[in-house]
Amino acid sequence: MNPGKNLIGFNIGPIYEVMKHSKKTRELWFGSYLFSMLVKMVYDKLNKDVYTVLKPFSGEDALEKSTAGLFPDRIVATTSKSKEDVSTDFNKITNEVRKEIATIINNLIKTECSRIITDKDKKNHQAAKKLNDSTGKIIKEYLQLDFVVIPQNEIDDKDIIKEVESYLDAIEVNRSFTLGKNDPTCYRCKTLPATVEVIEWENEELIEQKLCPLCFLKLRSHLSNEIIELTGIKEKQPFPPIDRIAGVEFKKNYSHLFKINIGEAENNLYENPEINDNVKDYHKYYALYMADGDNLSKVAKNLNTPEELSKYLFSFGKSVHDISKNAFKGEPIYIGGDDIFAIMPFAFNDNDGIKTILDFATRINTLYNEQVAGKITGANTDKTSLSAGIVIAYHKYPLSIAMEEVQNQLFGVAKQINNKNGLAVKFIQHSGADSSFQMRFDDPILSIFSELYKSVLSSEKGFPSVHHKIDKYKTLLMNLGNEIQLDNLLEKRFYEGFENEKQKELFTALIKTSLIKFPKGKQAEEELERVGNMIHVLKFIKGEK
Ligand SMILES: [Zn+2]
Repeated sequence: MNPGKNLIGFNIGPIYEVMKHSKKTRELWFGSYLFSMLVKMVYDKLNKDVYTVLKPFSGEDALEKSTAGLFPDRIVATTSKSKEDVSTDFNKITNEVRKEIATIINNLIKTECSRIITDKDKKNHQAAKKLNDSTGKIIKEYLQLDFVVIPQNEIDDKDIIKEVESYLDAIEVNRSFTLGKNDPTCYRCKTLPATVEVIEWENEELIEQKLCPLCFLKLRSHLSNEIIELTGIKEKQPFPPIDRIAGVEFKKNYSHLFKINIGEAENNLYENPEINDNVKDYHKYYALYMADGDNLSKVAKNLNTPEELSKYLFSFGKSVHDISKNAFKGEPIYIGGDDIFAIMPFAFNDNDGIKTILDFATRINTLYNEQVAGKITGANTDKTSLSAGIVIAYHKYPLSIAMEEVQNQLFGVAKQINNKNGLAVKFIQHSGADSSFQMRFDDPILSIFSELYKSVLSSEKGFPSVHHKIDKYKTLLMNLGNEIQLDNLLEKRFYEGFENEKQKELFTALIKTSLIKFPKGKQAEEELERVGNMIHVLKFIKGEK
């Protein structure tokens, strides 16, 4: 790269803040989508003759009529323009983008306020009342559209993107937003001033809520012409609510139950008389899936061109999008290369039998190995892999808490596993009680366990409570002298109640695989506890508490 150039890093926020105040899936989705959209808006305004964009790899069709945000949250570019000129350009662009967003929101407020609402209509529609004109001011102060300009010669040439991002991390500190004294506070986020009042369903009741511009946009994006144009989302074709994602299995034969009008009371899928005899416990659980690439910056450092990696990640992201939507019938929220977040059904039965969230996670992991890790050749000694966190929760479990939890599973558990490639799963019951397990994706336990899940969920018969037996005979299991003794113990103490030969074999394989790796001591104990937890989750999802 030529000396004397400037590097630019552009960053948006506060993403997590905006996403976390979400009660409905559509709010969580749009909270995320908004930021992808903002980066795309900035990207489109950049003069590509003057700015060479290193990240994202390609701005082409990334957001084309998709509900998933496919644009990463940052832009890294180089230019020969002076620092002052870059600042002038970026200030102009970010001001324009802020204004455009404020206009989208104000148009939406106008549309909503002009809907005629009679008492009868109130039952079927919601409408807004404008409280004040401060949308633009709030957007200007709250939405962070930050950039840094660094002279190229101050940066290690090999690792440009990482270096620029470390500058961005440094400016990404928590900035507080101060409310005006007399402003009413937003009912949903309880952070920003309210500018609009809406009537909205909550717990099967219509209530009046004063909202800030962002919470309003998140709740009503399906009515905004600009957003409809971009995403294809509509009032009658909204981002699906949680029961329609968890119970997606019924979509094929009961598609009419999946035609939802957001203005109407949100009717519960499971209580519908047409299907309720067929509803099984596993239909009532959704899964949040979050993934992140391991050691990527180390790997990037040894590549000849950072663009190479961006290219692999971009095409990987596109495949993830298709697989999550089509093969696994879920809803990707964002896919910024290796950075993935999706709301998925826990399990569903399609033509090929049962598919679970574990199958999905395994599939995406394999794909990453093929399309990203496997493509990186040359002098790289560092290997990249993909770690994932999963939260499986009852459909009534609050989305905002599940979202916080899936971040913990990914960053606090899966990515703490030695050499990573980690998977951490937390299961949250109806009562709020939870259990969890973790492993590496290349642990043979994972495929055995996935097979067992599928077999048990597709069978009409029950599965024995072997997890209690593992607990009871743990010490004995850890101190056996050889495989014959293990076979004897399993035969005498564990096999009673198995009605399916395949499940018995898979269970045996689980125990043997665990004990072969760590025949004695604390690690053996942990292995057995893990198998116990996995079976506990399986039993619960099968509806056998
Ligand atoms: Zn709000």
